[in-house]
Amino acid sequence: MTQLLDDGHFFLPGPTEVRADVLAAMTRPMIPHRGRAFEEMFARIQGGLQQVFRTERPVLVSSSSATGLMEAGVRCAPPGPVLALVNGAFSERFAHVARACGRTVEVVEVAPGEVVTPEMAEDRFREKRFAVMTVVHSETSTGALTDIRAMQTVARRHGVTCLIDSVTGVAGSPVETDTWDLDYIFTGSQKALALPPGLAIAVASDAYLAQARSAAARGLYFDLVEFESFARKAQTPNTPALSLLYALEVQVAAIAAEGIEARWARHRAMAERVREWVGEHGEWGILAPQGARSDTVTAITLPEGVKGTELVAAVERAGYVVGTGYGKLKERTFRIGHMGDHTLTGLDRCLAAIDGI
Ligand SMILES: *Cc1c(COP(=O)(O)O)cnc(C)c1O
Repeated sequence: MTQLLDDGHFFLPGPTEVRADVLAAMTRPMIPHRGRAFEEMFARIQGGLQQVFRTERPVLVSSSSATGLMEAGVRCAPPGPVLALVNGAFSERFAHVARACGRTVEVVEVAPGEVVTPEMAEDRFREKRFAVMTVVHSETSTGALTDIRAMQTVARRHGVTCLIDSVTGVAGSPVETDTWDLDYIFTGSQKALALPPGLAIAVASDAYLAQARSAAARGLYFDLVEFESFARKAQTPNTPALSLLYALEVQVAAIAAEGIEARWARHRAMAERVREWVGEHGEWGILAPQGARSDTVTAITLPEGVKGTELVAAVERAGYVVGTGYGKLKERTFRIGHMGDHTLTGLDRCLAAIDGI
């Protein structure tokens, strides 16, 4: 039976609301992480995550927040300049991580809410040889959705490795890791997977890992080659956050019961409901342009005189949590996270509560 939240109250765009049975799984006693019971559990988790990512490859699970596997992706990527596609706070962070790892980074930047087009990236590849491109699938700070399949295609055409942050994409928006032949894609536990924060999850292609073996300064803790060789034995390189893996095991079973395509459809329906609802509020708008809107998060623009933080505080007094705008957009927007285990029924209640203010 599919378990979802028809009465959710926590619509933050991360962390998201976690079901009680998932939270309860975390109270299970410890087991040795080098034993059979662990390997059997991790194999089941792998199987579930393969359905989520639509891959037959090993899925890499790191006991870190998502940024850990963002940094790992850069450290293990081919040497040379990085082109960072920037359209908001998280894509900006990706560029920052690459710089902090000692990379030369050039940026293609568009206004928050917009998306960088494949043509814009390709123009840069024609001018100059880049080794790596960073791109954010669903830019959680603005609610803009980038076509990662098209981005991967352009990158491949120019021999550029494409690193994809799909932290609010995977498990909420269609992602076809194998069919789209993605180089490297990662997510975090606390967004559309509806788990507590603390796990990062990725898939890396064979070609990416093959070149990673010769990456000089890839370090040890975030070495994706290590992660992969352990994953193939249903193990992790170091002691994993076992309690979070218990929760993950319960959640991948719930996702399998729902079906990943049904999960994508549910997210699409919630996104459409929010867009319709915004349309019913004359002066409100949606920050991201039509055709490039996220299935998991919507940033709503407010008219002069309505302050985002004040609205969000009033919503909280009415019993619901939504997100303020991010960074520079703090007062001009607010954000609804319609992802994870929320349903249309639960979302409608939240929207009605906002209308009641
Ligand atoms: C939340 C988020 C991150 C950061 O994840 P952490 O788990 O805080 O490291 C990165 N990218 C996107 C798009 C996000 O939404």
